[in-house]
Formats: sequence, structure tokens, C-alpha cells
Amino acid sequence: MQARENRRVVLAARPKGEPRAEDFRLETVALPSPGEGQVSLRTIYLSLDPYMRGRMNAGPSYAAPVEVGEVMEGGTVSQVLESRAPALTPGDIVLGQTGWQEYAVAAARALRKLDAARAPISTALGVLGMPGLTAYTGLLNIGQPKPGETVVVAAAAGAVGSVVGQIAKIKGCRVVGIAGGRQKCDYVANELGFDACVDRHQTPFPRELKAACPQGVDVYFESAGGRVFNAVLPLLNPFARVPVCGLIAQYNVAQLERGIDRTPLLMGAILTRRLRFQGFIVTDFAAQAEDFARDMTQWLDEGKVRYREDVVEGLENAAPAFQGLLQGRNFGKLIVRLAPDPTKL
Ligand code: NDP
Repeated sequence: MQARENRRVVLAARPKGEPRAEDFRLETVALPSPGEGQVSLRTIYLSLDPYMRGRMNAGPSYAAPVEVGEVMEGGTVSQVLESRAPALTPGDIVLGQTGWQEYAVAAARALRKLDAARAPISTALGVLGMPGLTAYTGLLNIGQPKPGETVVVAAAAGAVGSVVGQIAKIKGCRVVGIAGGRQKCDYVANELGFDACVDRHQTPFPRELKAACPQGVDVYFESAGGRVFNAVLPLLNPFARVPVCGLIAQYNVAQLERGIDRTPLLMGAILTRRLRFQGFIVTDFAAQAEDFARDMTQWLDEGKVRYREDVVEGLENAAPAFQGLLQGRNFGKLIVRLAPDPTKL
């Protein structure tokens, strides 16, 4: 039998600053046959996430970088084509981490079988997947929101932020989102039910944020950094909690700008207002995955949590879509469809 052709996107060069088209390379290779305990897969959906920018850099981080020439890392929902593992049969739909490619061979034990009857399979990459778990665990464990408190959420129209704000509403908080542009803000306030949403691109953004938080801020779910953080910091109440989930404004910064050192200001605020900042990586809370799946499934069924997906077609559009994600061009959980979804045919 002739080997199947596999198109994949590899890291061509390490970006300096914003990733450019030349930093990615689309190539075609032969797909190997699965060995014992392995399956061959056809990718249906590829997740694009901000953490991938970090994997493009060399140097120490919480996870190893993608090497130049290697397939870009990424979460995927795929269909099993051929199986040499008893747990999986052809046709099964699985969640994996098989990267930016149309086909893959993977160990069955690295895959989780999905039940298409329970939820649309793409949600395993978003509201019911890693971004949803990030929102749930970061907010509840670190943010510890209490009824009546004000919770501010950065990147509020996105995969993580949209879920953070809706859970904070379920917990009885006043919730203020921050998003890029009027359209996203309207969606956050009108469709997701946040109490307010402030456009970070508007010039009076810090003033508008202050006006939207008349009681100050008790929990700030940080995903942005930069100008957004600077606007929130003066509003933090004594004993505020800040889950530091992401700092997307600085992912493309190759070198810190020279300027006034604001560290003393930040440290002074932490001390006098007894602020609690805690960085986290979703895997820190892997043990809570079952609680999350139970609660989130119920909230989705009850219509208490809504989600939006931004679906891009075709592997050749993965890199431009990823570049757009880092500039705020996505509107909802960013996903690339690489093959027709067999559960929707
Ligand atoms: P989103 O779907 O929210 O997309 C990213 C969004 O970030 C953009 O749409 C844009 O929203 C916003 N953004 C982009 N550039 C900037 C900027 N310069 N300043 C402020 N905001 C910007 O992505 P996710 O929900 O997947 O991720 C959100 C955050 O959570 C990221 O920081 C990510 O790294 C982090 N994260 C952390 C995890 C962890 O384990 N700690 C796990 C998963 C995600 P807008 O234009 O509307 O502001």
C-alpha cells in the first residue's frame, strides 16, 4: 500500500518579536504506519492557543520549546483511521496533542476518546477543554470570588476570559470584561451577561474602566499585562486576588523597553494593599479535571455558560490565524478545521 501523504507545519525559524510567515514552513511528508500500541489519525480540528508563541522561543520555560524543523505543537481532535491498540477502533474520535498536521501517528495511551453525543467534539479544545479548565481552576482556586465582589477579566471575549466571567457571574459577582473593540464588548455584555465591558483600544480606557468599577476590583483575572494591567493596578482593593494566567501583551516582546522602573510602585501596592498575585499553569490543577467536566457540562446544559468558536479553514491558514491571535484578531476560541467534522455530516 502506498504511504499516505501528510501535510504539516513546522517551525522554520525562531521569531524575533512578532512571528512572520517565514518562521513557519508547510511541508509534505509520508505518514508512517502505526506500530504496536499506536493509531494513525486524521486531524479534524487543530486548536490555536497563545502558549504556542512561547514554544517558538529557545530557553527555559515551564515546557520544552519546539525545535526548529519540528512540527508545531498543538491540541487536536482527530478520527482514528487505523488502530494497533485494543482501546481504540477506526472511526473513534479522540483528543490529543498531535500538532499542526493533517495526519498523525500517536500512542493510544496519549489520546482521550471523546463522546460526540455528549458535546460537539470541537468543544474539547475550548469550553470543555484546556481553556475552560484554565478559567475554572484559576478563578476558583486563586481568585476565590465571593458574592457581591467585583471581578475584572482581561481578554474577555476569548476562550479563557469568556468562561472566567461567566463562572464569576454564577458565583454572584459583579463582572467587568476588557476586550478589543466595540463588537467584542457588545458580545461580552449582551450575550455573555457580563455587567459591563470596556474597550481597551479606546483612548480613555483607564478612565472608562475606573467608571465601570465604582467599588474597586476584588479579583483581576490577568491574561494581558502591559497597558491593561497598568489600568487595573490602581483599582485593586485591599486583599484583592490576581490569578496571573497570561501576559499576551508581552509574548512578542523580544527585549524589554528601557524606561522608568515601575517595580517599586508595584511592590508598594502589593504591600500596602496586601494584594495576592499567583501565577499558574493549567496543569497545576490537573487533579480538578473531573470536577470541572461535571460542573461545566451542567452549566452548558443549563445555558449558564455560552461559548463562541472562531473557525478557520485549512492548514495553510493556521499560521496567519495564529499571527492574528497575538494581535487580537480572533473572536472566540480559535480553531482550524483540517477535515470535515464527521459528526456533523
Ligand atoms: P484568546 O481567545 O483570549 O485570544 C487572545 C486574546 O488576547 C486576543 O483575542 C486579544 O483579545 C487579547 N490580546 C492580544 N494581544 C493583546 C495585547 N497586546 N494586549 C491585551 N490583550 C491582547 O486566548 P486564550 O483565551 O486562549 O488565552 C488567554 C490568555 O490566557 C493568554 O494570555 C494565554 O497565554 C493564557 N492562558 C494561560 C494558561 C495557563 O495555563 N496559565 C492556559 C491557557 C491560556 P482582545 O483584543 O479582545 O483584548
